This record gives sequence, structure tokens and C-alpha cells, in this order.
Amino acid sequence: MSDTVFGKIARGEMDADIVYQDDQAVAFRDLNPQAPVHILIIPRKPIATLNDASPEDAALVGHLFLVASKVAEREGVAEQGYRTIINCNAQAGQTVYHLHVHLLAGRALQWPPG
Ligand code: 5GP
Repeated sequence: MSDTVFGKIARGEMDADIVYQDDQAVAFRDLNPQAPVHILIIPRKPIATLNDASPEDAALVGHLFLVASKVAEREGVAEQGYRTIINCNAQAGQTVYHLHVHLLAGRALQWPPG
């Protein structure tokens, strides 16, 4: 896959407001937040979309969601509630082609989403 801004953030080549990182994942605040808490969780491994995740990525994809719950706890929103979303491809609104989980919280979130 071609390089993206998230690849650069994962490699430390571009600044981001990082709130958590480990050997597999990085979590940082969204540049254009859609809620008081809007954090993106990405794998260090460059996977373009959820469609490109393979069975060998199963634990990694699961890890992204466990990181989301850990970050939600740290941000103080775990009890009140939060939403995790993966946008896959253009019609879902994916704009950065490096797999990422959105963590949204801090306000009442519309359901179903628009
Ligand atoms: P998508 O629409 O692909 O699901 O989400 C991409 C998200 O990345 C958007 O919410 C957008 O605001 C955010 N974003 C795009 N470029 C950057 C960047 O350079 N830094 C950060 N922190 N967020 C970005």
C-alpha cells in the first residue's frame, strides 16, 4: 500500500497528540474532532482498509479495540459510554487508507449514525 500520514505518525516521522502507544498500536487525537473525545487507534503495521486485514491480523485487529477500551478508561469516558467505528472505503467516508478505529465520546452520539 502507499504511505499515508498515519504511517508517518506510526513511525514517528510526523507529529501527533499521542495518548497511548505500544509495540503494535498507536492512539492519537483526531486533528478535526467530531466529539469532545475523538481518538484514532492505528496498527503500526500498514493495513490499508479492514478489507485488507487477513486471518493473521486477527489478534492485531482485536488489540486495536482493547486499546480503545483502555484509552476510554484513561479519558474518563468508559462508564458514560463511547463509540468505536471503522470506516471502510469511500462510501463509508474513509479518507486515510491506513486502518484506524475512531473512538468517539463526551457527548450524546446519534444512532443510527448519518
Ligand atoms: P476516516 O474518514 O478515514 O475514517 O478518518 C480519518 C480521520 O483522520 C479524520 O477524522 C481526520 O480528521 C483525521 N486526520 C486526517 N489527517 C490527520 C492528521 O494528519 N493528523 C491527525 N491527528 N488526524 C488526521
